[in-house]
Amino acid sequence: MSDVLVVGGGVIGLTIAYELSGRGAKVTVVDSGRPGREASWAGAGMLPPGKIQPDQHPGHWLRACSAERWPKFSDQLRELTGVDNGYRNSGGLEVRFAEQAADLQREITFWRAEGVEIETLDRQQLLQFEQRISPKLDAGYHLPGFAQVRNPRQLQALMAACASQGVQLLHGTPVIGWEREGERIVAARTGQGIQPADQFCITAGAWSRGLLDEFDIQPEIEPVRGQIVLLNMHRPSFRHVIQIGSRYLVPRPDGRILIGSTEEWVGFDRRTTAEGVRDLINFALSIVPSLVDVEVERTWAGLRPGSPDGLPYLGLIPQTSNLFLAAGHFRNGLQMSPATAFLIAELMDGKPAPVDLSALSPTRHG
Ligand SMILES: Cc1cc2nc3c(=O)[nH]c(=O)nc-3n(C[C@H](O)[C@H](O)[C@H](O)COP(=O)(O)OP(=O)(O)OC[C@H]3O[C@@H](n4cnc5c(N)ncnc54)[C@H](O)[C@@H]3O)c2cc1C
Repeated sequence: MSDVLVVGGGVIGLTIAYELSGRGAKVTVVDSGRPGREASWAGAGMLPPGKIQPDQHPGHWLRACSAERWPKFSDQLRELTGVDNGYRNSGGLEVRFAEQAADLQREITFWRAEGVEIETLDRQQLLQFEQRISPKLDAGYHLPGFAQVRNPRQLQALMAACASQGVQLLHGTPVIGWEREGERIVAARTGQGIQPADQFCITAGAWSRGLLDEFDIQPEIEPVRGQIVLLNMHRPSFRHVIQIGSRYLVPRPDGRILIGSTEEWVGFDRRTTAEGVRDLINFALSIVPSLVDVEVERTWAGLRPGSPDGLPYLGLIPQTSNLFLAAGHFRNGLQMSPATAFLIAELMDGKPAPVDLSALSPTRHG
């Protein structure tokens, strides 16, 4: 029997399985399909910087703690598996056209208050940073600590690392209910039979809510579609991740450029659409006009596990003594995965959380 059964093999479930198996636990991960093929595969892999601060909001703590862990975490995965996840510090530029610049100062103040290295840029300085960007961009800032990871490779590395630490990964095994004895969950009912364990963690991304029907809580986790257009220049393009709010360009060293992303509440619909693709391409050309004749390699969409406040639900499910939830990371599941896994492992080990988790409580929305 497993010590821990992890339900869902996306980046959150696999990182938790890696952390727990590294601490000596016998872990099984069950996935209804193939692990690592849903939102975690579809994401852009942007990893913003962060500095842990006393009394930090737990959402900022998850980002900051993860940012501090990513370099060593990536080295460990490479040493263990030989897979290079593509983690690199590319730096990030947040930019604005003249009519959009109003909210920049608030963001700059926020990053400075957290102690993150930041450099403000005027129009000329922006062009010195990235010569290809539109001269109409008026202002921005540079975050030298902004990093990125090739998320499909990160998932490949996690699966290999989990396997090397003895984690059992079961494909095509949807959890459909729970076997309970009082407050204790004794097994998960799956499409392939019963999976008993001492502790359980739901990490089923956008599908997590359906696994909680028989409990008294309903965290508001909903699928939020994000479309991506992938360009390929076949040679290195620009260096920095370039963002305007929730829209971005992520350049890979091999000449590929991800344009992301839409935010659409359309249920479990993974299609890419003419409107979504048009908006993303228009956005990209407004920032880097010379991309106009670059090849479109492919498009895709993923279903983020959205929550009303954009924050994950982390912790023990009430009226159970051994069922945990780690889901609802919305736009930030890749970046927050190392700290999420650390936190859940600490809670499962019976240790106190390093931050006040009430703002992330599974019961905060009813
Ligand atoms: C276009 C796009 C761009 C993004 N960009 C970024 C980014 O740059 N940086 C960032 O940090 N985040 C980004 N994200 C968000 C990030 O991808 C998600 O927050 C993260 O992947 C969520 O991980 P997860 O493991 O919770 O969910 P998922 O990756 O969706 O995994 C959930 C897993 O659970 C399985 N499952 C479902 N139901 C069951 C069941 N009943 N039984 C067993 N298994 C089940 C599924 O098959 C799936 O494998 C992006 C997302 C999208 C869509």
